[in-house]
Amino acid sequence: MRQPLVAGNWKMHGSRESVGTLLGALLASDIADTVEVAVCPTYVHLAQALELCAGSAIGVGAQDCSHAEAGAYTGEVAATMLADLGCDWVILGHSERRAYHNESDSLISAKLAAAIEAGLKPVLCVGETREQREAGEAEAVVAAQLAGALDGHSKLDGLVIAYEPVWAIGTGLTATPEQAQDIHAFIRAELAGVTGVNADATRLLYGGSVKPGNAGELFAQADIDGALVGGAALVAEDFQAICNAA
Ligand code: 13P
Repeated sequence: MRQPLVAGNWKMHGSRESVGTLLGALLASDIADTVEVAVCPTYVHLAQALELCAGSAIGVGAQDCSHAEAGAYTGEVAATMLADLGCDWVILGHSERRAYHNESDSLISAKLAAAIEAGLKPVLCVGETREQREAGEAEAVVAAQLAGALDGHSKLDGLVIAYEPVWAIGTGLTATPEQAQDIHAFIRAELAGVTGVNADATRLLYGGSVKPGNAGELFAQADIDGALVGGAALVAEDFQAICNAA
């Protein structure tokens, strides 16, 4: 059986004060131990989050990492640095990075290699835009993103995939449970053809306007193993409720 995983992607939000308050509330809250939980603050809040979460069941991850090991890459952070700091997870290929930083599948593939090599657990994001869905291209887009990022790797156990339809991110629009299940089942079938991946053991998260009110019906779907949560992850009681729905 796949253990449910709920990860909070805090994006570019927070201050030392708000990180302390949010994690203080989460650490004091009652989250079932059947669900694995992670939070992904900005780089500058990672050390604080790691310190606060030390010894707790809440894992900590970054929202990105460099493809390179070290060198003249101003502004970048290496996967080995994140691992050295104590991070467990790293989100890769988020649609905001694909859109605003022109991240290609081949760059994401190189980042994935660096993350795996450093011992981080990657959460690889895939998902189509509204235009692509309306053109009937959702499956083809997701298949190409998976192949582009995953082909050629040999050690992919522990990989997590997050399906985040771009049209559902931060818009209040959520894929229906049936729409999400259909594409999650498609992703699992695609993963079965990827060398180095155990498709049945791979956790597939849904992301895109997940809230306490819709989490339960999403998690009830056979191939949805948790969520990557944006906005609602910044509200302790909402994030707790989503975790407990998993
Ligand atoms: P929202 O939950 O705010 O729609 O964001 C989803 C997301 O992008 C998580 O990575």
